[in-house]
Amino acid sequence: MGVITDLEKIGKVLVQCDFDGTVTEKDISFMLLDAFANGDWRTVNKQYTDGKITVGQFNEQAFGMVKAGKKIMLEYIKTKASLRNGFKDFVNFCANKDFRLVIISNGLDFYIKQILKDNDLSGIEFHAAETRFQPRGLRVQYIGPDGNVVDRAFKDKYAKLYFDEGYYIVYIGNGTSDLPAAMLSHHIFATESLLLNCQQHGITCTPFTDFTEVTNLLKLW
Ligand SMILES: [Mg+2]
Repeated sequence: MGVITDLEKIGKVLVQCDFDGTVTEKDISFMLLDAFANGDWRTVNKQYTDGKITVGQFNEQAFGMVKAGKKIMLEYIKTKASLRNGFKDFVNFCANKDFRLVIISNGLDFYIKQILKDNDLSGIEFHAAETRFQPRGLRVQYIGPDGNVVDRAFKDKYAKLYFDEGYYIVYIGNGTSDLPAAMLSHHIFATESLLLNCQQHGITCTPFTDFTEVTNLLKLW
């Protein structure tokens, strides 16, 4: 995929962006599990990355180990959750270009909302796991674009929806779980595991390390 210089040919553009490890430098879910899970959540994560359980099952089991309240967790991440360089300028750039920017995340809604708010970015549309705080542990659930509960392929379902709506989709992500949604997109910006996955599968993508690079390339469109 080369640089596209004729935006007229592309039509309406939607940027589907991952959150943990993409918008933020670190994975906030893992940070919270490391700090607050009462149990061996990494073994559960291994089962998920090995494909033995779904992301929904992973969330149910791993976050079920977390008994902490919302306030203490938000307090914990407040000083630790930094944004990847250039993200705020990228948000402005998308707004100016009339690109629809949507964060679709396997992470949890309550911290995404707070981190965006803390960075004066509350206006960004995002879809993530809905979290309920219960004494016996967190209850985490994905609700898909059709309003039904989704146990897996949350990101892919949104990418498919946007594709069917006729958007030219720019995908930005960092993880293995981004690959199926990225493959439904027209242009991929990839870093870390997603970049490796794309390279292994021979999928064309643009590597990036910060959002300034993404902005600079999209400026050429
Ligand atoms: Mg990620």
